[in-house]
Amino acid sequence: VCWSEKGGWHRPRVSPYGPIQLDPAAAVLHYGQEIFEGMKAYRHADGSIHTFRPYENAARMQRSARRLALPELPSDIFLDSVKQLIAVDGSWVPSQAETSLYLRPFMFAKEAFLGVRPAKKVAYYLIASPAGAYFSGGVQPVNIWLSTQYARAGKGGTGAAKTGGNYASSLLPQAEAYEHGCQQVLFLDGRNIEELGGMNLVLVKKDGTLITPESDSILEGITRDSILQLAADRGHVVERRQVSIDEWREGAASGDIVGAFACGTAAVVVPIGRLLAEDFEILHTGDEAEKLALSLREELTGIQYGRVEDRHGWMVRLDA
Ligand code: PMP
Repeated sequence: VCWSEKGGWHRPRVSPYGPIQLDPAAAVLHYGQEIFEGMKAYRHADGSIHTFRPYENAARMQRSARRLALPELPSDIFLDSVKQLIAVDGSWVPSQAETSLYLRPFMFAKEAFLGVRPAKKVAYYLIASPAGAYFSGGVQPVNIWLSTQYARAGKGGTGAAKTGGNYASSLLPQAEAYEHGCQQVLFLDGRNIEELGGMNLVLVKKDGTLITPESDSILEGITRDSILQLAADRGHVVERRQVSIDEWREGAASGDIVGAFACGTAAVVVPIGRLLAEDFEILHTGDEAEKLALSLREELTGIQYGRVEDRHGWMVRLDA
C-alpha cells in the first residue's frame, strides 16, 4: 500500500516476493525514517489459521508512526494486509508443533530528496517467513550481558517506537554480549533497567510478585502485557514501575528476587539464567521462577495454538 500527502493510502496489492525499487535519494536510506512490527500466524489443530492480538500491533505501529513523523496506517488496512497474504496461500503457515508464520509489516519513507523533513511519499509492505520452533530440545535459560557503555535509547528518543535505528544502535552491544558468552544484551537508562535487545524483562520475587520496568523509552511488548495479564489472573501481584539494577542485584543477593524472564513474540518466554556485568554477576538457579516462566509460556502458547481457551478474546481468525 502506498501513501502520499495528496492521495492518502492507496493501491493495495499482493505481488510475488522480490526486490523493491528505490531511488538512491529515498529518505529512508539516509535518515532512517521507517518502522516495523513483528507478529505470527498460528495453525490450530483443525487446520484454521489465527493471529494473536493484531490490533495491538496495529496500534503500536500507529504510535511508532507518530514518533517517526510517518502517516498512521488505519487498523483495518493493517489487518486486511495480513488476511490477504494468508489468502494467497494458507499452506505458508506450517503445521508442526511450535512453528508459525512470522509476519513482518513495515513502512518506510520512499520520497527522493536530500533534506531533513518528513517524507511526503511512503510505502507500507508486509512480508512473511515460516518460523521453526525457537528452541529445539526444550526451552533453555539465556544469559544476558549488562551494557554500561552503550544505551539503546534515551529520554524523549525513539525507544518506545519499533524503528530500525534502535536496533542499529544495539548491534554493537549485542556483539559485545556474544563475546562475553551471552545471548542477549540488557540496556539501562541511568541505573534503571530497561529491556533486552529484542525482548522485555520481568523480575520474579519470592512471594510471586512480578516486577517489570516502566519507562517511556522501551518497546511496550505485547507478549509481556499478555503474560502479565495471565499472571494477574492467577493471583500474582504485578508491579509496573521503575526498577534499578541495584534493586535487582540486592534482591538477588538477599533471596527476595528469585529469578527473571524475558519475553517477546519470537521466543515467547525465556528464563534468565545469569546476568553478567563488568564488575558483578547475578546467578539465578531458583526453580520457582523458572517453573513460573515455563508455565506462563505454556498457557500463552496454548492460547495461541488453540489448545487453551482464549478467555481474553486475543485470537483473530485469518482464513475466514
Ligand atoms: N523489546 C524489543 C526491543 C523488541 O524488539 C521486542 C520484540 N518485538 C520486544 C521488546 C517484545 O515485544 P513483543 O512482545 O510485542 O514481541
